[in-house]
Amino acid sequence: MLQPSTSVQYVKGIGPKLAELLAAKGIQTLDDLLHYLPFRYEDRLNPKGIAELRAGEMATVIAEVRTSGLFRTRRMPIFQMTAGQGRTRLKCIWFNATYLRDKFKTGQIVALYGKVEEDYRGGELQLTQPQFEIIGEADNASDSAEQKLAASLEIGRIVPIYESAGQGRLTSRWFRRVIHTALENLPPDLPDPIPAAVRRHLSLISPREALLKVHWPDPGERMEDLLSSRTPAHVRLIFEELFFVELGLELKRREQKAQTGIAFQLDDRARAAIKKILPFHPTGAQKRVLKEIASDMEKPFSMRRLLQGDVGSGKTIVAFEAAIIAMENGYQVALMAPTEILAQQHYFSARRILESAGYRVVLLTGSMEDDRKRETRRHIAQGNAQLVIGTHALIEQKVEFAKLGMVIVDEQHRFGVLQRFKLMKKSSEDHVGTGDSPVQPKQGSGASPEPDVLVMTATPIPRTLALTLYGDLDVSVIDEMPPGRTPIITRCVSDERSPEVWDFVRKQVAAGHQTYVVYPVIEENEETELKAAMKMYKELSKRIFPDLRVAVLHGRMEPDLKEHVMRLFQKGDLDILVATTVIEVGVDVSNATMMVIEHAERFGLAQLHQLRGRIGRGAAKSYCVLMTGGKVSEDGERRLDAMVRTSDGFQIAELDLELRGPGEFFGTRQAGMPSFQVANLIRDRQLLEAAKREAAAVLAGPNSEISQAEIDAALRHMRTRWHKSYGLVEVG
Ligand code: ADP
Ligand code: MG
Repeated sequence: MLQPSTSVQYVKGIGPKLAELLAAKGIQTLDDLLHYLPFRYEDRLNPKGIAELRAGEMATVIAEVRTSGLFRTRRMPIFQMTAGQGRTRLKCIWFNATYLRDKFKTGQIVALYGKVEEDYRGGELQLTQPQFEIIGEADNASDSAEQKLAASLEIGRIVPIYESAGQGRLTSRWFRRVIHTALENLPPDLPDPIPAAVRRHLSLISPREALLKVHWPDPGERMEDLLSSRTPAHVRLIFEELFFVELGLELKRREQKAQTGIAFQLDDRARAAIKKILPFHPTGAQKRVLKEIASDMEKPFSMRRLLQGDVGSGKTIVAFEAAIIAMENGYQVALMAPTEILAQQHYFSARRILESAGYRVVLLTGSMEDDRKRETRRHIAQGNAQLVIGTHALIEQKVEFAKLGMVIVDEQHRFGVLQRFKLMKKSSEDHVGTGDSPVQPKQGSGASPEPDVLVMTATPIPRTLALTLYGDLDVSVIDEMPPGRTPIITRCVSDERSPEVWDFVRKQVAAGHQTYVVYPVIEENEETELKAAMKMYKELSKRIFPDLRVAVLHGRMEPDLKEHVMRLFQKGDLDILVATTVIEVGVDVSNATMMVIEHAERFGLAQLHQLRGRIGRGAAKSYCVLMTGGKVSEDGERRLDAMVRTSDGFQIAELDLELRGPGEFFGTRQAGMPSFQVANLIRDRQLLEAAKREAAAVLAGPNSEISQAEIDAALRHMRTRWHKSYGLVEVG
């Protein structure tokens, strides 16, 4: 008997070498292995006879290899295999599949799964590019007992199909055998960490039964339910995962709510101060969210609020208004941005809007001279600086505030909730005893209250998801754009038509407007792409627009120079700004009415949307040209198509989620954070809501349905889970 926490290397058939390959997939313990679920199932219980196949359907066929071989056509090599059942035959073809050359031997039994199609002559049926597995050798006379077991796992069942691992060394078939053995050695009394009442509410089956059936479904299970992960076994495992995430978030939220915070006063003076700085009439949505924020600030608890709004919806001014309330109450405010450019951008706006009203604003960035940094820090420590703007890294680590009352975090769309927890935890850990983190400031007497925290994000997450993912935060949404915007006209053209595009740019400039030309530079390829971007810049400035004012902005430039260029563009002293993605976030120049994105097919959807959000900020009509260079993948086409069709951030976000999957979308994977093992936030939205509801009910305390002991057990399990999955010890 193995315990769920046992390392996979002790599972029969694995050992230290293969365990390493599994670790790369995030599978370390027996429990991880058992939660490595099939991504689909094949009905090899009722495989189809070749004669029954119909064009257009997906089918499993078990047949014997008759002939196989590689053909070279003018366009590409094609591998063809003919499989037979008695006297019927089925042709299978794979394009560009030289690697299959020596794969099959006549007489082998193969399971094939794929789409049934008519062949190119429109006559015979064939399987095009089917998935396949060799499930029996030609001479089965010498089969060992082990081979027989293996064979019995392959046919006559609904068979689980796993994603292979270790560069194909650990095949689906391998997983089947290993997981099968592991399941046979599962303790008979696997404890259930979910409280009985919750189990009852959702009619959940036991964890043991769920694991057994999710891998080896009963013959009666409907394929449809299996393929959509809706069997009782799936529901049980998915719910469990979501429930413990929600339990952690909910606990966090409760703790946060109990923290003593500052009860800011929103009196007439503060109101008048806010009125004074407003350069325009706020939209209804801006007024509403400010009210929500202000009401949090007035309460004696520490605020944790998410301000969500699409690019250009006007979050900045709302953040400034909140900052004024804090400053009018005699507190300091920290505004943290994800990049230096963005910090600078906020600084420009703050100077324009707040400094002119008499507030003392400072900028603190890594690239500043040491002397100036020290000087700025002193101002902050002495309380002279009222609003401190800088990058996350900088403010989090080294700044001591005299009287910090509010932290505004501009996440744009870089951080998910888990990463933020990690961030907060890290900063409090690093500074235990020094008390200089803004997230947990001066602890001296232990009596100083927590500052309010406002997180701004431009990720248009569907509301239910936002509530859940940012479960520790209250959410305010700006769902209305400032008035006077004309919709951006977006077109997608091949770069062969660039002369026309440049002509159009010239017209915009002649009309007094400015243009961005964006060139993709992705970190992995920074060197070569940066070179290409510079070449592009030279071409534009020397050959195409020698008479216009063209400048370049990229990540490798000296910070002072970057700032200088940005300032020139902002002031209207440049006509064209050739930039890499550094302008992606936050940049705000309302006279810029055109953006040309080169190699648009290489950008992700969220990134394109963010980029395009830099234009269309004024009253003049704006244009976005997505220029493609070279071949565009199918996903690429869908991204570009979505951009042309809509500028609604929510629609774009939904499609992005679909294309990339939630892990990528929320940035958890990029940040090296594990995504969900079995749950899928889009598919499982309803279970997510149920999990949230049940988690809240459990934390409301013991009652006739649930005992304190059960609650404690659930919390213990949650902590282990969180610690393991997110590296966070400190939840609750
Ligand atoms: P984001 O939500 O992307 O941070 P910003 O705060 O940068 O958006 O606002 C985008 C632009 O809209 C800025 O130029 C800002 O001055 C302008 N703006 C914001 N609110 C209003 C409003 N109520 N009326 C007119 N213009 C506004
Ligand atoms: Mg902004």
